[in-house]
Amino acid sequence: MGLKYRRVLLKLSGEALMGDREYGIDPHFIDELAEEIKSVYEIGAEIAIVIGGGNIFRGVKGSSMGMDRATADYMGMLATVMNALALQDILEKKDVPTRVMSAIEMRQVAEPYIRRRAIRHLEKSRIVIFAAGTGSPFFTTDTTGALRAAEIRADVLLKATKVDGIYDKDPQKYPDAKLLKEISYLDAINKGLKVMDHTALTLCMENKLPIVVFNIKKKGNLMKILLGEKIGSTVS
Ligand code: UDP
Repeated sequence: MGLKYRRVLLKLSGEALMGDREYGIDPHFIDELAEEIKSVYEIGAEIAIVIGGGNIFRGVKGSSMGMDRATADYMGMLATVMNALALQDILEKKDVPTRVMSAIEMRQVAEPYIRRRAIRHLEKSRIVIFAAGTGSPFFTTDTTGALRAAEIRADVLLKATKVDGIYDKDPQKYPDAKLLKEISYLDAINKGLKVMDHTALTLCMENKLPIVVFNIKKKGNLMKILLGEKIGSTVS
C-alpha cells in the first residue's frame, strides 16, 4: 500500500485520553485510540508518539495556584509519563511492540531518551512513545512534538485534536467558523490561530516540517491521512 507519509510523529494531547471525562483516562476511549494507531502500524507506518499531560496536570495551572512555575512544569512532565505508560499498556495488549522513552531519566519505568536509539526502534517496527516532554520546564508537549519530529526526521507532524482542523475562529463558540484546509506557518503564527504555540510552529517552519491538524475522534482519519487523503488542515 502506498503511504504518503512513512515516518510520522503523532502528537496526542492528554485530553485525547480523557474521552468525555473531566480528568484522567477513559479506558474505552484509549482503547479506540489504540485501535486507530494499530491500524496504521499494520500498514507499515513508522510511528512515534508524543503524549501530553493536560488531563492530569498542567504547569500553568500549578503556577496560577501559587506554585513555582518550573516545579509545576516538572509535575506536568511527570503526568505525561503516566499517560505514556497507559498508552504503552493498551498497545502491547494488542500485540503492538512499543517503547516508552523519557526525557527525564527514570530507568525503572522507561528508557532514557536517546535519539539514535529512538530511530533504531522505529526501524525495527516498534512504536516509540516519547514521555516527559522536552525534559525542560517552560515548554509544551506541542513543542516536544515539533522537536522530536525534527530529530527523528519524521515526514509529518500529526496533531490530533477534538475538532476537524484549524478554523478562522473557535468552532465551539461560533457556528459560522470556517475550516482552513491549507495555511502557511506564518499565517498560523501571525493570525494567532490556535493551532500550536509559537515555539512549536517556528520549529516546524525552520525545519520545513508539515503539520496536519485533524480530528482523532473520527474513526479512520489517521489511516486516511497516511494514505494521502486530504483530511483536516495542513500547515506548510
Ligand atoms: N511540560 C514542560 N516541558 C515540556 C513539555 C511539557 O514543562 O517540554 C509540562 C507543562 O507544565 C505542561 C505539562 O507538562 O503544561 C503537560 O503538557 P501539555 O500541557 O503540553 O499537555 P497537553 O495539553 O498536550 O495535554
